[in-house]
Amino acid sequence: MSTPSKGSFRHPTTIPDEKNHASRALDDGVQFLKGVGPTVAQILAKMNLHTVGDLLRHVPRRYEDRTRFRRLSEIMPGEMATLHGRVIAADTQGTSRKNFQITKVLIDDGSGIGQLVFFQQPYLLRQFQEMAHAGRWIVVYGMAKRSGYGPVEIERAEWEEVGDDGDALSTNRIVPIYPTTEGISQKRLRRIIYAALQSYESRIEEPLPPDVLLKHRLLDRRTSIRNLHFPDSLAMMEAARRRLIFEEFFLLQVGLARRRKINTHEIRAHRIVVDVDRLKEDLRRISSFELTGAQWRAIEDIAKDISSGRVMNRLIQGDVGSGKTMVAVAAMMMAVEAGFQAAMMAPTEILAQQHAIVLKRLLEPLSIPIELSIGSLRAKEKELARTRIASGESRIVVGTHALIQEGVEFQRLGLAVIDEQHRFGVLQRQALQKKGEQPHVLVMTATPIPRTLTLTVYGDLDTSIIHELPPGRKPIKTHWKRAEQAAEVYSAMQRLIHQGRQAYIVCPLVEESEKLQMKAATRLAEHIQQEVFPHFRVGLLHGQMRSEEKEEVMRRFKAHDLDILVATTVIEVGIDVPNASVIVIEDADRFGLAQLHQLRGRVGRGEHASYCILMASPRTEDGITRMSVMVETQDGFRIAEEDLKLRGPGEIFGTRQSGLPEFYIGDIVRDVQIMDEARRTAFELIENDPNLSLPEHRLLHRELQRSRAGFELIHVS
Ligand code: ADP
Ligand code: MG
Repeated sequence: MSTPSKGSFRHPTTIPDEKNHASRALDDGVQFLKGVGPTVAQILAKMNLHTVGDLLRHVPRRYEDRTRFRRLSEIMPGEMATLHGRVIAADTQGTSRKNFQITKVLIDDGSGIGQLVFFQQPYLLRQFQEMAHAGRWIVVYGMAKRSGYGPVEIERAEWEEVGDDGDALSTNRIVPIYPTTEGISQKRLRRIIYAALQSYESRIEEPLPPDVLLKHRLLDRRTSIRNLHFPDSLAMMEAARRRLIFEEFFLLQVGLARRRKINTHEIRAHRIVVDVDRLKEDLRRISSFELTGAQWRAIEDIAKDISSGRVMNRLIQGDVGSGKTMVAVAAMMMAVEAGFQAAMMAPTEILAQQHAIVLKRLLEPLSIPIELSIGSLRAKEKELARTRIASGESRIVVGTHALIQEGVEFQRLGLAVIDEQHRFGVLQRQALQKKGEQPHVLVMTATPIPRTLTLTVYGDLDTSIIHELPPGRKPIKTHWKRAEQAAEVYSAMQRLIHQGRQAYIVCPLVEESEKLQMKAATRLAEHIQQEVFPHFRVGLLHGQMRSEEKEEVMRRFKAHDLDILVATTVIEVGIDVPNASVIVIEDADRFGLAQLHQLRGRVGRGEHASYCILMASPRTEDGITRMSVMVETQDGFRIAEEDLKLRGPGEIFGTRQSGLPEFYIGDIVRDVQIMDEARRTAFELIENDPNLSLPEHRLLHRELQRSRAGFELIHVS
């Protein structure tokens, strides 16, 4: 869902001829443009450029200031420079390696001579020789170096021939350099986009209301798009980009503001009135500890939401081990007390099973029956579970995404809890919601979410943050060790196990296949049992095991029938065994930061001093950074920010399924300030004109409907 979305423009079906000026629209196919025939259109289509509007949103990758070329005589080695020179000679050298060719080209810019070096592009020779013969000029961009006393040398330069018509688009101006593809040159693409601007500029409308433009000192849209491509100055280019980024974020935020407004003011929901004192009493009775202040606050937020008569959409953010499960338990007790069913969805079977065990222990004394619904149940059991859910006999249902599959019908679902929300997509959240009539929704996430993402992905949710860890937790000591130090690590483990603690060993990540991962885990477990710790009890847990097997292993580890659990990342989320106080992560540099933080969160859950040992000999800069960050900090929010910097938002939140929009020009990390500004403005606007019915919001309304994102957001009911 990009805003505005490339995909939302219809693809051209009409033949591009006598289109008269009046009917021109930005969703015309690229073939309406001068110089774009079927072949070029096909190449453009490969880059997802189907319409004129797409072309106008094709953002230059960078710009070259060709009003100021560097002189060859003044260039310093190591400088990225743009040059303008005449081709004077070209030659190819073979090297001792067969078939390896180096093409060298000499250019002269009047101040000196420079040498371009190209590798393995033999066809360039003819081209440059012809240019040399005709005395052609080229523009060159690249990193300068100097070898010995020789001329300035540029390897693998980007270059472009300058036409002798003095080509106005390519020289003496700030020139856009676009992302492009084989078969279409920069110059060609530049001309096409220029033509698009020439013929369609008058069609560009302004969706931002005048007071927003004024208040945020934004350029109008037409000027911005022109300066995005052919800027009058670098300052204009910056201003144009800022305006377009603002617009992109603003459209998203207006959609989110609108959705939140609908949720909080228009969608009626079951009113669940809670006797908070009684609830607190019940909670104290069933739980072996006193809840933290932050847990109580989250519970009170929930109680307030669900008694309001409006549907609740609340996000509980809390670092690993902060005790989110108890908050969910409390919420589900409220729903059940009021005569509704509650469902809780977890991303893995092991976690769902663990939740079921906890819930049974806590709630069955209060005569609240718990149902487990996971994919690996036998057909017969599944059938029985479904019947109990449909009849209302099961009051609380815990499960995996099996819960949202067809055939699961609730009698009266009043609350849907989604644990580890970042593992699910927005669609799955909605699917669970659809299992009831406007159930209240509580989503929980352990990955602290950088604020930028909270503003973007969860912008329509109310948030409660659990800042506080339960009392008595000791910081987890994190050490980074190399493979050669294994013996040292094992002897430390041995000491801890002798003191009565338990340990996790996490297998190296094998991404190729589940099967290989399973084999690696099995081999490691055998090695640990037979060669390292023959006197300890070693268990194995991986994703390929049947669900009863997994349950059995977890039960034994929890009951301390096992000392060491060798496991794959199946233990990454949620697993809770407070007596385990050390986790060793093999080849830790293969894991991402968020994942390492989650894995580390498996220890430090009780009163014992805990350790996380990262076994790693990283080979990349990235890997080293990740290890250092882990050793340095235990603050999940900081780790999340670092992770976002290293990997980018797309990778963290698999874009499509998570509902993280794809932006065509904005970057939520780089442009977080603009996002903030856009968000505040959008929420104010919706507060004053919830249906965008004022005349000055007409074009904004239309723009939102046009972009798929806005369309979805505006039509939620
Ligand atoms: P997460 O937020 O990661 O889901 P859990 O809900 O699994 O955390 O809780 C982590 C551990 O802390 C569990 O063993 C849980 O029983 C325990 N716990 C939760 N709340 C408290 C509390 N207020 N005091 C002491 N221990 C608590
Ligand atoms: Mg949890």
